[in-house]
Amino acid sequence: MGKLDDLVRLSHRYGLDPEWILAGGGNTSFKDATGLYVKASGTSLGTIDETGFCTIDRDRLMRIWERSYPEDADAREAAVLADLMAARGEGQKGRPSVETLLHGLFPQSYAVHSHPTIVNGLTCGRDGEAAFARLFKDIAIWVPFVEPGYLLARAVKAEAEAFRSRAGAFPNLMFMQNHGLLVAGESAAEIDRLSALVISRLEAQIVRRPCLAAKAVDATAISRGAKAIKDLAGEGSTVLFRADGEILARAASEAAFAPLSLPFSPDHIVYAGHEFLCVDGLDSLPAGWLGYADRNGQAPRIVLVRETGAFAISGNGAAAVNAMLLFVDACKVAAYAESFGGASHMSPAMVHFIRNWEVERFRAAVSQGGKP
Ligand SMILES: [Zn+2]
Repeated sequence: MGKLDDLVRLSHRYGLDPEWILAGGGNTSFKDATGLYVKASGTSLGTIDETGFCTIDRDRLMRIWERSYPEDADAREAAVLADLMAARGEGQKGRPSVETLLHGLFPQSYAVHSHPTIVNGLTCGRDGEAAFARLFKDIAIWVPFVEPGYLLARAVKAEAEAFRSRAGAFPNLMFMQNHGLLVAGESAAEIDRLSALVISRLEAQIVRRPCLAAKAVDATAISRGAKAIKDLAGEGSTVLFRADGEILARAASEAAFAPLSLPFSPDHIVYAGHEFLCVDGLDSLPAGWLGYADRNGQAPRIVLVRETGAFAISGNGAAAVNAMLLFVDACKVAAYAESFGGASHMSPAMVHFIRNWEVERFRAAVSQGGKP
């Protein structure tokens, strides 16, 4: 049996479950005495095999903490990435996940980082941190939203060390504001036990579940909408459609749409865009589209049309599927967040950071089938 067998199994178990991981999101790792085996950027956990992991020298990885890096975000992340690349084992070609530093901090043998929808109901809730303190403080840490990459890892290091001096052991769980969860354990069974515990404690708090039953809508409106969008997006674009109770309720008014008016998490931005377009009918679609393009310098990837439903648009089919998946996830997060004080979004500065971050651009390019 290979030493990565359990890691591959864990990756498939969470990577294939849409309640835990969507598209190319999330990452997993395993440690032995000298090496950290972590998902390479741009691979998908659901289909990963042993070759999808990057081997990192743990000593060289920990030496990153002894260095100082530039203040400027681009220069800093480039320097950290260069050090991460240099810490790879001999002959390694993949690019280690941006969350490699995080995985390296946890002493446990296995770590699974994911973006579970119900967990993000809490991490994207206005009262999320208070609910976390009530439900998980004894076993977990909470990390406020900071720029992913080096600064996030540094914030986690500080929180985890404070937990250790308080509790006498390293935490097994980490809740990341507007981002997701990390579960660390000595075995795959321990990861499963802790993961199930998180879900069951959260399920008990939910006051309203997302209403995902498909809704029948006027077929003429759907084909008119799809045609209008194809005309605006240009030849060769893929347009997908979906209508369910949650989508139609959000599209019904500006107030109902408000929880979706800003992004919840980095993956929503990477796959579905930083802003959804919501119009009050098909007649408003062209003006809404052009206004969006003017404002953002790019076309929308998700368009909601009142009393019709949601359209996902992309230059290729796989990217359109992912845009719809992450949009539906945002709808679900918005519904779950009602149980935790209502929606709390990423700040405009953080949205700007993610949109411009080289690592995320790399991930978005890979997610859309492009060459890194
Ligand atoms: Zn993540």
